[in-house]
Amino acid sequence: MEYHDTSEVLITTDQIEQMVEDVAAQINADYMPYQELIVIGILTGAYIFTADLTRHLNMAVNVDFMQVSSYVGTESTGVLKIRKELTVDVAGKDVLVVEDIIDTGRTMALLKDLLYERGAKSVKLCAAFDKPDRRVNDLKADYVGLVIPDEFVVGYGLDLDGQYRNFRDVRIVR
Ligand code: 5GP
Ligand code: MG
Repeated sequence: MEYHDTSEVLITTDQIEQMVEDVAAQINADYMPYQELIVIGILTGAYIFTADLTRHLNMAVNVDFMQVSSYVGTESTGVLKIRKELTVDVAGKDVLVVEDIIDTGRTMALLKDLLYERGAKSVKLCAAFDKPDRRVNDLKADYVGLVIPDEFVVGYGLDLDGQYRNFRDVRIVR
């Protein structure tokens, strides 16, 4: 296995806990208590954030997962690649997409369009971390945990070649 320097902590476990509570409070304020909400966690990076966040929500939450990525083909907007499909039908439903980090914004923009094409009543985006400096479109998440600088980070679900997802804090890779 390749060695990476992951000694620099960017976000501590205490900051992450606070972030999850803050984001959940915003979401709880925007939906009715016990309203049905389809939460779509984006694999694999958002598996921990999805588990933490949903345990703070008051709605009638229905959790599902999807694995998607985007690649830049002939169109500059990119193409959405679905590696694992949803099991729930989103038609007529309120949907909250939970992502680990937003970078260029391509993946979330494409996924939001897809969910509306499938008939979702509303689609909101929630990301644990956001790197707005890297955006190539006008995508804005409805709920953002923490804005971070343009650094490659790992931990709290985020990986480098499959490693480091299990770190309890978020670290910069040098
Ligand atoms: P984008 O917003 O560019 O379409 O893609 C976001 C995806 O890129 C995230 O879901 C994540 O998989 C990956 N990504 C972006 N920035 C980072 C980072 O700093 N660390 C890790 N581990 N993944 C990142
Ligand atoms: Mg990802």
